[in-house]
Formats: sequence, structure tokens, C-alpha cells
Amino acid sequence: TRRPAANSVIRPDFKFEDLGIGGLDKEFSDIFRRAFASRIFPPGLAEKIGIQHVRGILLYGPPGTGKTLIARQIGKMLNAREPKVINGPEVLNKYVGQSEENIRKLFADAEKEQKEKGDESGLHIIIFDELDAVCKQRGSGAGGGTGVGDSVVNQLLSKLDGVDQLNNILLIGMTNRKDMIDEALLRSGRLEVHMEISLPDEAGRQQILKIHTTKMRENGKMASDVDLAELARSTRNFSGAEISGLVRSATSFALQRHIKGGTVAALKDDVAEMQIHMEDFLGALEEVHPLFGVSEEDLG
Ligand code: ATP
Repeated sequence: TRRPAANSVIRPDFKFEDLGIGGLDKEFSDIFRRAFASRIFPPGLAEKIGIQHVRGILLYGPPGTGKTLIARQIGKMLNAREPKVINGPEVLNKYVGQSEENIRKLFADAEKEQKEKGDESGLHIIIFDELDAVCKQRGSGAGGGTGVGDSVVNQLLSKLDGVDQLNNILLIGMTNRKDMIDEALLRSGRLEVHMEISLPDEAGRQQILKIHTTKMRENGKMASDVDLAELARSTRNFSGAEISGLVRSATSFALQRHIKGGTVAALKDDVAEMQIHMEDFLGALEEVHPLFGVSEEDLG
């Protein structure tokens, strides 16, 4: 089977609405333009006219706001392989003493394919979650003092600087603490596109509520008294992940009301009858609270 090329063409069936990302249209299109647009040329053409691809981007902002979601969805859109995901604290703990080897392996498949296929080689996305964890110790010698963080960062730097080998790789770093990221990693040619993904505003929250209730609405499980606009107003400071938690909590209240139980057959009937009402969401609002930070709405 033919693999998609590094300069993949966007899937013809692509629609932004289908990506299931709420409230991040602007961020999505900016990231796409800055980090991915150069990759939609047919293989060889970008190289021929001297277009260089961005090799790394940094997505930063509070937890649960959709950073991983965006990275995965853009990958899908470009027919890239399933991203490889690694996590900073895991690298530090699990791979003490073999972190360099671990990073080397992460890049190995892409490098091999680039060698074999050149321009035709597919796009490999590497997501480095909680990147700040490996940066904390760099140069300090303190804080655990294993120096593992140092060697991970150095290894990443040397990979990112290996221009020729890296044409088919995009490294996506993620963090809640941009201030902790080693500046050397953020320079141009490395993780050079920086994009903040912040908490959703009211319109964004309404979109996210819609996304996470799509199936219920399509299957008639959501009662007509549920007012998503009202819920969007009541969920200030909620992240996307917390909104999906709110929907889960509301669902649990609805289930509790409907399940009289007994036999499995009876349970099936109960669930078939089940509908989620506004009261379930109000119950959920008592139970699920935003954990992180202050939104722009609160600041001004
Ligand atoms: P972390 O910093 O904790 O890794 P993250 O920003 O990468 O968080 P995701 O893993 O992308 O957050 O989000 C977790 C889940 O929350 C997603 O799988 C999705 O279900 C929901 N979610 C978060 N943001 C959005 C959004 N903007 N639109 C729709 N769903 C969202």
C-alpha cells in the first residue's frame, strides 16, 4: 500500500466541523497556516522551490483545553501516521539512564523512511506532552539531579538541528508552563511556532457542549428543556475536558432517575426510555467545578 507523503495532500473529505474541536477555529487555522500549510504541496515540489517545513511547534495553555485534540486532528487531516506520544515525567522516571536511547528510537522510524524514500516519505508527528518536566532540571544540577532532563533536551536539540533527516518529522511540544521551557528549544528552526490554547469563551463552550452531546441529541436522548446557551453561560472557566466531564455527570443523574433495574432486560428498557433534562445538568453543575486558572472574561 502506498503511504501518504510528507507533503501530504489534505484529505478531500475534510470539514472543520467534523473535527470535533470547539471554539478554536482561529487557533486551528493559525497553526495550520504556520506549521502545516507547507506540507500540502505534492511530494518534491516544496523542496524544488525551496520551501522549508517547520520542524517543531509548541502548544501551551491550561490542561484539558484541546491541545492534544488539535495535534491529532491535524495529523488525521493530513493523512499522517498516528502520532507517537511521549510524556515528560514518564521519560524522566521510566527511562532513567536510557533516555537518549528512548528519544533516538522515537525518531528512528521517520529517519529510516526519509533515507529510503526521500521526498516521498510520510509525515511523522511526535507529541511531547508535559515537555516542561524535562526542562526543569536543565543546567541546574538540582531537583533530582539525575541530569536525565539535560540529556533529553540535548538529544531533542540535536535531532531538531539535523535538518536533512528531519524533513518528514513534526515535533509538537505541549506544556502548561511555557515559562519553564528551555529557551534553546524555542528558537527558530526548533519549536518555532508558539501557540497559546486558552480556556474557551462562552461561544466556544457552547460549541464544545454541542460536540459532546451530538450523539444524545441525534438519538433523541436530550430533552427539549436543555438550554445549551444557558449552560455555556454557567460554565465560565471550564476547560473542554471539564465540559465533557459535566456532560458525563449529567448523564449519570439521568441514568439514576431512570434505572429502576432488576433484570438486564429491564435495564435495557430503562435506558431506552432515558432522557437527559436540564435538571440533570444543574445537578452536574453542583458537582463538577473548574480546577484551573482564570479566563480572559474574568480578567477584563
Ligand atoms: P493536557 O494539557 O492536560 O494534556 P490538552 O489541552 O492536551 O490537556 P486534550 O487532551 O486535548 O487537552 O483534551 C481532553 C479532552 O477534553 C478531549 O479529548 C476532548 O474530549 C475534550 N476537549 C478539550 N478541549 C476541547 C475542545 N476545544 N473541543 C472539544 N472537546 C474538547
